Amino acid sequence: MKSNIATLHLPMNSNGEQKIIHPTLIWDDEEVILIDTGVPGQLDVIRTEMERLAIPFSRLTKIILTHHDFDHIGTLPEILMKSEQKISVLAHQLAKPYIEGEKRLLKLKDDSNFVPPMAKVDQVVEDDEVLPECGGIKVIFTPGHTPDHISLYHIESKTLIAGDATIAVNGELLGPNPHYTLDMNEANNSIGRLLDYEVEQIICYHGGICKGSEIKRLEEIYYTNK
Ligand SMILES: [Zn+2]
Repeated sequence: MKSNIATLHLPMNSNGEQKIIHPTLIWDDEEVILIDTGVPGQLDVIRTEMERLAIPFSRLTKIILTHHDFDHIGTLPEILMKSEQKISVLAHQLAKPYIEGEKRLLKLKDDSNFVPPMAKVDQVVEDDEVLPECGGIKVIFTPGHTPDHISLYHIESKTLIAGDATIAVNGELLGPNPHYTLDMNEANNSIGRLLDYEVEQIICYHGGICKGSEIKRLEEIYYTNK
């Protein structure tokens, strides 16, 4: 394998509880790709986490967003503003208007005065597209949690980056969190689409890495909820 993959550990306050969220970093000699960007204000911890992996922030070339929820696009504008190099932003067509500030974030409460992070999307990605970077990263359209959700499959490491299509609790793989998922039926159909892949590990944004027998759980989750 010529490319590398690892997760970053960023703290996030979730209903008064301190949790860890897991953006993914994939890199080789040419490209450094960050998948999802934490909540607003996490530039320093993203930098520190990249340094822990011996990747200087100045090497970051691309950002892929799995969907437009605020805990995924949070630090995006700050990263782009503070970087000296050009970083390309990739997302699904349906995520673009939310990320670019044309549409109101779907899960924002009516009375919220939260100012959403905003940035330009440079490249729209499509279902089944294989991005050539780092030995190939396949885009899998997995709506349900939000209508614009994608998961990614890193071919060399056989890693499924599930975004919020699944979660993990203490290493146990579970379906998407119903509390935050807009269409549970669609989300389960999307889990069905993930069964086609030979997977060695699954990275859940909420819950981290699942390996071994937990991967078989994908099938169980799908058929239980079908
Ligand atoms: Zn989400």
